[in-house]
Amino acid sequence: MVAEDVLDLDGSGIGCLEHSHRGEVFDQVLSQTELLTRSVLSVPSDYSVLFLQGGATQQFGLIPMNFSGTGPSAHTNTGVWTTKAIRAAEQFGSTSIVFDGSDDGFRNLPDPTNLQIPDEASFLHTCANNTVMGTQWKTLPRPPASVPHICDMSSEIGSRVLDWNNLDMLYAGCQKNLGVAGTVLVIIKNDLLLRSQAPTPFNYQEHASAGSRLNTPPTFGIVVLRRMLEWIQQHGGVTNMALRAEQRAQLLYDAIESTQGYWRPHASHGCQSVMNITWHGPSPEAESEFLNQANEIGFSGLKGHRSVGGLRASVYNAADEDACQKLAELIYTSSRSSK
Ligand SMILES: *Cc1c(COP(=O)(O)O)cnc(C)c1O
Repeated sequence: MVAEDVLDLDGSGIGCLEHSHRGEVFDQVLSQTELLTRSVLSVPSDYSVLFLQGGATQQFGLIPMNFSGTGPSAHTNTGVWTTKAIRAAEQFGSTSIVFDGSDDGFRNLPDPTNLQIPDEASFLHTCANNTVMGTQWKTLPRPPASVPHICDMSSEIGSRVLDWNNLDMLYAGCQKNLGVAGTVLVIIKNDLLLRSQAPTPFNYQEHASAGSRLNTPPTFGIVVLRRMLEWIQQHGGVTNMALRAEQRAQLLYDAIESTQGYWRPHASHGCQSVMNITWHGPSPEAESEFLNQANEIGFSGLKGHRSVGGLRASVYNAADEDACQKLAELIYTSSRSSK
């Protein structure tokens, strides 16, 4: 348990909040966490694994700072996070928006094989799971071979088997599926790493050369990450996480469907997320009545993001199927009782 690590890290008699980030005990934590990351996510050997401070939002700036070039950076705009990433990239060069879903409230994702990604783009940036909108790419777009693909996986990392043939870099704020806030996992192909061009504290290559200890890494977050990765490994790995996520999401989407239009999913069929399920009701009153009923039986945080409205169930790896079953029942019964 993390509580043990706080009091006594790995039998050292000293807690993880007290250990030096350059001491032997933390050396072990760092190398074990890297090994676990590599094993759980099947990271190929020509990729580096970095544990950095901050959140995914910092990466929106660091990526163009390191990799923008003469060509534009290409982006699929699929929600609030990619919009922020585009705003950040504009500060470092031109951008090419190869898909923009803003016109229809980001309900849809395009056919990934049907995008015009310029050959001269400095990189392609995508977001695998759009946390706020509840859409998720079933297959990510694949840029031309000359264009590195960089993906924000903050809200789905560890819940899906990765296609490394189509990823040059991924990053994830750890607070959603891998632990606590303040830590970002970055996995980056070494040939892309070599192109890092940002000044010192922002340069990926320098972080890699320093083994994630250019400065003090987020030690507590790394200790929690090690626990999370162990838990995933002990529970059948990412393959099983993916299966469980599908099953939980199916319960909720089926329940929404069973209300015959009383509740309506926000995301279109074919791109519905298995991590964040978003839906709308017939009126704001019906939605707040649902929230009250849900709160009474122990659910919290089901209110949709202010930019989408409606309701949202975030079902990350830790969510259990029983809770989803209970929520699915409420979705169904709430539609009956108001008819
Ligand atoms: C939550 C989230 C972010 C923002 O993460 P911070 O760590 O708060 O900066 C970025 N991208 C996605 C997909 C997210 O879900």
